[in-house]
Amino acid sequence: MPNKKSLASLIDNLEFLAHRPRILVVDDQVINIQALYQIFAKDHEVFMATSGQNALDFCKKTPPDLILLDVMMPDMDGLEVCARLKQDEYTADIPVLFVTAQNDANQESRALMAGGMDFISKPVNPDVVRARVRTHITLKLQRDLLKKLVFTDPLTGLANRRSFDQAIAKEWRHCQRNSKSLAVLMIDIDCFKQYNDTYGHQQGDTCLTVVANCLQTSLGRPHDVVARYGGEEFICLMPECELAGAITKANALLRSITDQTIPHSTSRVSDIVTLSIGVAAVIPNEQHNTADLIAKADQKLYEAKQAGRNRVGA
Ligand code: GH3
Ligand code: MG
Ligand code: MG
Repeated sequence: MPNKKSLASLIDNLEFLAHRPRILVVDDQVINIQALYQIFAKDHEVFMATSGQNALDFCKKTPPDLILLDVMMPDMDGLEVCARLKQDEYTADIPVLFVTAQNDANQESRALMAGGMDFISKPVNPDVVRARVRTHITLKLQRDLLKKLVFTDPLTGLANRRSFDQAIAKEWRHCQRNSKSLAVLMIDIDCFKQYNDTYGHQQGDTCLTVVANCLQTSLGRPHDVVARYGGEEFICLMPECELAGAITKANALLRSITDQTIPHSTSRVSDIVTLSIGVAAVIPNEQHNTADLIAKADQKLYEAKQAGRNRVGA
């Protein structure tokens, strides 16, 4: 994650890029793909698709940073491909630049209406296409970075509360539709104020990061979400999980932290860092909302603290 000092320059210069920008070129004529490949291969990873369906399949699997899309293709034309990409939230943000031999205003307006960002005429002028692609890739990567910053806790790299709020709203709807149980774990480090007082705030930050990593790696399923909820509080969302399963997971999380044996000489409950966890689960329905589920987990956390800490309340 970038630090605060260099953030502005990162956003300006995209120095954070871990990979070369990925461009997908879609055209039914291989010779056209080759021409664009020559232009971009040096600074980009260039992929190719020779039909609309191939392009959609590729984007579903590995979304590129930009698509150069031929308008006229047999079977599914470029306008249809673009419209389909825009309908799917997973691919909707990929900028699409149409490439076409027919440069009449009517077709240009239809391409832009279909969700295209720009319109490039064939035969392509290398300088023009390079400049337009650079502009759109820069904007796309800046959007990606901002999204990541908005939804990530900078200290631990976990999802933040904003991200969690979106996830729980989505999973609530999903579990309601499918009559499945949705579980929440409210997790709090025991005696963390004493930890800071004893070891200093910086080591407190390190401890939070270790706990965060440990929680993240201990959660197995792809739709489970762990987020930093407040100072030394974490929250875990487990879709399609019953109460019994959530309690088992909570106990495993407690153990995963004690297995780290992080010294805590002034804790009231142990000589290492421990957690308390409150667990709640519900099959979502009209009578309840996400706030009720979180409040229940919070109440169970309170009970775990009252009962002596370093334990699961359910
Ligand atoms: P309990 O066992 O009842 O949970 O007690 P506690 O001391 O853990 O809880 P309390 O709510 O009294 O204190 C939480 C502490 O967490 C106080 C605050 O300084 C610390 N804290 C919150 N955010 C951060 C942070 O980002 N970094 C560090 N180092 N400490 C933090
Ligand atoms: Mg605490
Ligand atoms: Mg707390």
